[in-house]
Amino acid sequence: MHPRASLAIAAGRLGAATLHRLSRGGTALPGVVALRLDPRLATRLGRQLRAGRLIITGTNGKTTTARMTSAMLEAAGSPVLHNREGSNLMRGITSALLAYADMRGTLHTEPGTVGLFETDEATTPLAARALQPTAIAITNLFRDQLDRYGEVDTVAAFWREALAASPPGASLVLNADDPSVAELGTGWSGPVHYVGIDDPAHAGGPVGATDARWCHACNGDFRYEQRFFAHLGHWRCQGCGLARPEPDTRATDVHLGLDDATFTVDGLGEVHMHLTGLYNVWNALCAIGLARTMGLPNDAIRAGLEAVRPAFGRQERVEVDGVGMRLLLAKNPAGANQVVRLLSAIEQPLQVAVLLNDRFADGQDVSWTWDVDYEFIADRVSRCWVGGDRAADMALRLKYAGWPAPRAVERSPAVLIDAILRDAQPGEELFVLPTYSALLDFRQDLVRRGGTEAFWQT
Ligand SMILES: [Zn+2]
Repeated sequence: MHPRASLAIAAGRLGAATLHRLSRGGTALPGVVALRLDPRLATRLGRQLRAGRLIITGTNGKTTTARMTSAMLEAAGSPVLHNREGSNLMRGITSALLAYADMRGTLHTEPGTVGLFETDEATTPLAARALQPTAIAITNLFRDQLDRYGEVDTVAAFWREALAASPPGASLVLNADDPSVAELGTGWSGPVHYVGIDDPAHAGGPVGATDARWCHACNGDFRYEQRFFAHLGHWRCQGCGLARPEPDTRATDVHLGLDDATFTVDGLGEVHMHLTGLYNVWNALCAIGLARTMGLPNDAIRAGLEAVRPAFGRQERVEVDGVGMRLLLAKNPAGANQVVRLLSAIEQPLQVAVLLNDRFADGQDVSWTWDVDYEFIADRVSRCWVGGDRAADMALRLKYAGWPAPRAVERSPAVLIDAILRDAQPGEELFVLPTYSALLDFRQDLVRRGGTEAFWQT
């Protein structure tokens, strides 16, 4: 073992112990400390995971896909080492590995442990170089917060770099419905497993947030035979004829409920999950694709999918004074359009609160709200409320979308919740669409009102 590594591990562990004393475990600080002392620590530790090293990346859905994959592996009896605390930069990956390392730099995991690493787009090349993945899954490529990585092409370039740094025999699991992701499989030296949705019933609907896309091979434009959502669908390049690859794992007969979904997969039959939204069907397909490239049995794949419950802040329901509030995180155009699409499938009049913040975690440019098809549900909304630091901007956006005049436009979460509870009757169901920091503020106030026990169950 390299002496530098021992020092790095010692320092990292000391950091971890300190954090536990402060009861703030699970952060990336140990990884930060250890990486400063030994930048190659993730390589030294990660490559000891000989049963498999999986990287999951993409703009949206990587956490959900990782949780689904992890549940499938566990159902198959495979132990998993997962950077599940949500830190998807190198320091978070290193922290996850450090938790299992001894002072000599040996990883003490159960035999057959698979490493599952959820990685931020820009971190993927570093992670691929360090971990030499056995498989990489890419969920989708959206224009995320405007001020984060800039262009879609920048992110695609990160991924090409990651593939170039990966072992030539690594398996790729790619979303066939996303041209920018599917194109990455062209010319790949190892196996490529494509996943996609084949259900014309879900084509059409809102098409906002269509990031400009053109063919990487010839700069031609894509034409869609079916478009499910934004730029996701059955595409073909009008220049060179490059087209959506035939999926190896396809979803047909997709039924989306308010709290769950079912769909049929060739060779698996009908599967059920406690998550909804077309976007979660793609996440499930990516997880199934990864599980299949690892040869997991069908029973484990089905059981893993069934075991996953909604994550923190993604899809939760809380009751205050008898009023049910469903919290649906809408932090960027892609996410918000997916939520709009989900609401459009509900057959009763909608009561909706939209909360817009512009703090660092939300992205400070709020012009993205103009890329969301709020118009699509305008005639379905019966009552609405508007909140967050940029409540006035949001109210203006919804006015242009043709929504009814809001019952309240309030920056303060407490005042807003008072207004909602004045209007809504016990037994009614509301939908709350917050950005990330607005969700935290809103939640905190619900906690104060004591209606939120169910919140903290994961
Ligand atoms: Zn082309």
